[in-house]
Amino acid sequence: MNKIALFPGSFDPFTKGHEFIVSQGLEIFDEIIIGIGINTEKKYLFDIEKRIKHIEQIYRHENRVSIKRYTGLTVEFCKEVSASQILRGLRNSIDFEYEKPIAQMNRSMSGIETLFIVASEQFSPINSSIVREIHKNKGDISLFVTHPEILV
Ligand code: ADP
Repeated sequence: MNKIALFPGSFDPFTKGHEFIVSQGLEIFDEIIIGIGINTEKKYLFDIEKRIKHIEQIYRHENRVSIKRYTGLTVEFCKEVSASQILRGLRNSIDFEYEKPIAQMNRSMSGIETLFIVASEQFSPINSSIVREIHKNKGDISLFVTHPEILV
């Protein structure tokens, strides 16, 4: 049976830091579903179609990675797509403190475990919100994002 993980996030935009988590995850899982969570209360810089197209371009040659959008609880979506685990990245202790109760509560609700991968030394400073600021101010984001041309 294929071992499937869901990598959930807003990916606004998907960065080289996220790419690292997916590539490490592919060493562990047979398949990774990148789940773009849609929160109607949240404002995004890049619209959902653009974010999907961008990630599809990055993984056009990797058939073990797929991209899906979802609303509602992450654990419910895991069941829908037969993902047995949630994959998340940890850059620092702030990420850890934020992620810990979510992972614990997700486990209580569903039994679904969260697997954390520590960010790479090279990409751990990359933060989607800073990338958005650079982009808004017409800076070059190609150091931090693969195929930035898809986002313009
Ligand atoms: P969310 O809105 O759910 O926090 P993000 O798109 O910001 O979604 O991040 C998705 C996941 O990727 C989170 O687990 C986050 O900690 C991780 N992540 C974000 N940036 C990096 C990075 N530079 N290196 C490793 N992991 C990262």
